[in-house]
Amino acid sequence: MVIVGGGCIGASVAFHLARAGLKDIVLLEAGRLGSGSTGRSAGGVRHQFATELNVHLSLESIAFLERFEQETGAAADLRLTGYLMLAHSPAAWRALQESVALQKSLGVPAHLLTPQECLEFVPQLRTDGLLGASLGERDGHAVPENVVQGLAGATRRLGATILEGTPVTAMTRRGDAVTGVQTPAGPIAAPIVVLATGAFTRPLAQAAGLAIPIDPVRRCVYVTQPFAGVPERIPMVVDFDTGFYFRREGAGIIMGMRNPEEPPGIGTAVDWAFFEQVSRRAAWVCPALAEAAILRGWAGLHEDTPDHNGILSWVAGWEGLLVAAGFSGHGFMHSPAIGRVAADLVLGRDCGLDLAPLSLDRFASLRATAGEAAFI
Ligand SMILES: Cc1cc2nc3c(=O)[nH]c(=O)nc-3n(C[C@H](O)[C@H](O)[C@H](O)COP(=O)(O)OP(=O)(O)OC[C@H]3O[C@@H](n4cnc5c(N)ncnc54)[C@H](O)[C@@H]3O)c2cc1C
Repeated sequence: MVIVGGGCIGASVAFHLARAGLKDIVLLEAGRLGSGSTGRSAGGVRHQFATELNVHLSLESIAFLERFEQETGAAADLRLTGYLMLAHSPAAWRALQESVALQKSLGVPAHLLTPQECLEFVPQLRTDGLLGASLGERDGHAVPENVVQGLAGATRRLGATILEGTPVTAMTRRGDAVTGVQTPAGPIAAPIVVLATGAFTRPLAQAAGLAIPIDPVRRCVYVTQPFAGVPERIPMVVDFDTGFYFRREGAGIIMGMRNPEEPPGIGTAVDWAFFEQVSRRAAWVCPALAEAAILRGWAGLHEDTPDHNGILSWVAGWEGLLVAAGFSGHGFMHSPAIGRVAADLVLGRDCGLDLAPLSLDRFASLRATAGEAAFI
């Protein structure tokens, strides 16, 4: 079988299939492993989601990252420093209350905090206008490059083939079934093809006459010089109303925010004009951050679907073609579970989850409604 795309999703699918004993696995990556969105990710992992399926995916994925070294022999550098989600509007506060209730019902250690209690974690936060917050104790961050390389290394040792610098130019089929892929080096026959092509899924699918609604949307991350204005250990702080976030990265701080004006596109130059808005929000949410000096930035592509949930779905009319893409800014944190579930689908096993919210056909019906907020 062929897996197209060597980001965290493709590497995880390959790893789980190889570990299940499947032979003849070939993973094809156009560039280098992790060179797409995975290598640009901020590495955040959280249980704080608003839908049951996403909470389950987080529980499984974060547990996998905790035993990553036993699973792969490599370190994911997971740090469970927590996520503190701040609500400044009644709508945000209601959403956090509802999602904490859901998380608790599923066994996640998440709590609601008063503004005063937030100061125990980050004393420099602004509390006027703050209605409350939710704290996910077992949220945090890991290193995406380590995860993709760790998964790929273990997959190779299990006997799979991973080819970098090998773009797939087309998918082939006979009748209603996929038969493989084309590459510049020639065709590769396979009865099952997994599209794990992230933000680049739409053009490859379109060439085959398939409409897969995933748009690439640039996201920028900004990193400060070493900064002592907040404690050494703080949770990831997320301003629920705007998506502004910051956390420690070594001695400095990394921060970012969603840009509602950003059009779809594949450019990844850092948007320094937008940084003005980010720094204004930073100084409002946590006034001490106004003193932090910016060192550098980077940008990458979110792989956004219309409801900000991913697609893990067989494709009607293309027997053997599985899409595992479009995880809309939370693909890194869910990649361990998505790889396991995709492997179960390929092997015809019960995956134990209701995958309707990730189905491709939800976009053809009115079921595409209950989305996730677009955070990292
Ligand atoms: C700035 C930023 C911050 C983020 N922060 C977080 C975060 O904190 N937490 C989180 O969970 N997620 C975060 N994300 C999102 C996360 O990075 C993605 O959801 C995740 O990396 C998607 O993984 P993927 O494997 O689907 O895609 P990718 O990593 O993009 O992998 C797809 C791969 O497919 C390859 N490819 C594409 N087309 C072809 C082809 N035709 N042939 C062969 N190969 C092909 C590409 O080269 C690429 O390597 C962030 C994203 C960005 C941009």
